[in-house]
Amino acid sequence: MSDKIKVIVSGAGGRMGKEVVKLVLEDEALELAAAVDRSASGMDAGRLVGLEECGVIVTSDLEAALNERGGEVLVDFTTPQSAYDNTALAVKYGVRPVIGTTGFTPEQIGDLDKQCRERGIGGLIAPNFSIGAILLMKFAAQAAKYFPHLEIIETHGDQKLDAPSGTAIKTAEMISEAREELRQGNPQEEEVIEGARGGYYNGFRIHSVRLPGVFAQEEVVFGGFGQSLKIRHDSYERAGYMPGVKMGIEKVMGYTGLIYGFEHFIE
Ligand code: NAD
Repeated sequence: MSDKIKVIVSGAGGRMGKEVVKLVLEDEALELAAAVDRSASGMDAGRLVGLEECGVIVTSDLEAALNERGGEVLVDFTTPQSAYDNTALAVKYGVRPVIGTTGFTPEQIGDLDKQCRERGIGGLIAPNFSIGAILLMKFAAQAAKYFPHLEIIETHGDQKLDAPSGTAIKTAEMISEAREELRQGNPQEEEVIEGARGGYYNGFRIHSVRLPGVFAQEEVVFGGFGQSLKIRHDSYERAGYMPGVKMGIEKVMGYTGLIYGFEHFIE
């Protein structure tokens, strides 16, 4: 019997899902048990991602795949509307969820944690699988203890709908946990053009830049007396998330309950 981890990919035809299928097909420690997508059903999963035929045909029936294909881990990159049901279904079949889809509520996360514990399996929901971005957050939180004056600048493609990015908000939250209470800047400051100073968060500012051609960048700039410190992460393509996804697939085999946030795996 193979000791490869058998992975079901849901959302296999999407931008992230295709990268996951590629990862699973190309990594010797992983095996593609099934590929599920509403839109690419009937295609060979290897062909779908530009590789050789692999013999796994994309299906639209997640429940049948979970029931019949011997999967050990479900990786889901679908939509916020379907990710909760997909995750609950995986847990029901004893398949460990590794979820990249965003938009879970705290109540849903609590429910899924309970379901994972009842079933005796591990699960992971990680709104950000980028190890570099997680390290940036950790380093920034550490730096904020010594440099409490800071601003966050995040840059994404011009079609992004939300601002600031989820990653910038998470960075701000982690900084706030470590940083002393402080409202930065001049209390008499006035914006001549509305929004010029960016969004206000817990005493500091977050700036969102939107430009075509950019994938994702984040920089935290710290100012101290006579010095400044910049911590920056640049993401160039979706493949950059895959080392994190691989680590998630391996980790989830070894514990019980649901972990929320990839930062818990990075010491
Ligand atoms: P996408 O639209 O390119 O792909 C989604 C795919 O899911 C589509 O192919 C669609 O047909 C399929 N799908 C939708 N509902 C489905 C269902 N019920 N069953 C099976 N397939 C279904 O989107 P994307 O850019 O790949 O992003 C997917 C999700 O991942 C989003 O929530 C996004 O915010 C998130 N995301 C997370 C990370 C991370 O690091 N965690 C990184 C990037 C994107």
